[in-house]
Amino acid sequence: MAFEGLGERLQATMDRIKGKGKVTEADIKVMMREVRLALLEADVNFKVVKSFVNDVKERALGQDVMTSLTPGQQVIKIVRDELTALMGGENSRINLSNKPPTVIMMVGLQGAGKTTTSGKLALHLRKKHNKKPLLVAGDIYRPAAIDQLQTVGKQIDIPVFDMGDKVSPQEIVTNALQHARDEHLDTVIIDTAGRLHIDETLMNELKEVKGIAKPDEIMLVVDAMTGQDAVNVAESFNDLLDITGVTLTKLDGDTRGGAALSIRSVTEKPIKFAGMSEKVDGLEPFHPDRMAQRILG
Ligand code: GDP
Repeated sequence: MAFEGLGERLQATMDRIKGKGKVTEADIKVMMREVRLALLEADVNFKVVKSFVNDVKERALGQDVMTSLTPGQQVIKIVRDELTALMGGENSRINLSNKPPTVIMMVGLQGAGKTTTSGKLALHLRKKHNKKPLLVAGDIYRPAAIDQLQTVGKQIDIPVFDMGDKVSPQEIVTNALQHARDEHLDTVIIDTAGRLHIDETLMNELKEVKGIAKPDEIMLVVDAMTGQDAVNVAESFNDLLDITGVTLTKLDGDTRGGAALSIRSVTEKPIKFAGMSEKVDGLEPFHPDRMAQRILG
């Protein structure tokens, strides 16, 4: 799908203003309509767009834009700054405990990329934070999830703890934590079960696992390609589990990534990582400023 960036959208308005030499309130209104359309096309939630555009409009009616020779560019700058601020401004780092092991619980719907991201995160923590991670196969329901994690573990040479699929996740986690202590592994990454839809059984199990694992980080993994659904998923998981961070996967796809903005404003939890490929090194820290640029196109 081809998107038209905000720059192109504002061009026509700017050309008109140049002819007149002065920006009017009506011009700002036209520009705001373009901002609104650009954000909706980028898949930002309409409620988020509405309040966002109101904020931007207030700033745009100020001196900087009204007296500017390049009002379109000024508006783009305001939009980019506000988007960046809305997504948290700076990159938010992963929570690491100073009392090892750090426990990271990966949650999300089936297919979002939990298992893949668990491996990626283990590699990231070893490379960038000098950690010795243990991957824990806690998804006992999805066929092949355990094998998949074992395969990833072998590929990156990181140990994987599994007890097959006949033992409860609660028991697996209890044993895994002990194993990590015994083996002096300082970071435990738990791959939990996901389902196709959020349901009570899944949430209750995750709550119990949370109670046992006492995670320093509850990382929600969401598929950026699912747009508005990703926002609903994030809201539900956050309500029930009080997540601490989000990884947005499949940002290498052709989405503008407006879900990032909505997720942040709906949950008020930081997006910490972006999944940029299927490969095990395809995880990057999430940068709000770069995302703002991408959403604007
Ligand atoms: P889980 O059910 O949540 O554990 O999902 P998986 O980890 O098995 O991932 C589901 C599919 O998404 C797999 O084919 C992964 O290779 C793919 N995937 C995961 N993360 C990314 C990503 O950042 N980019 C791309 N292109 N594919 C991804």
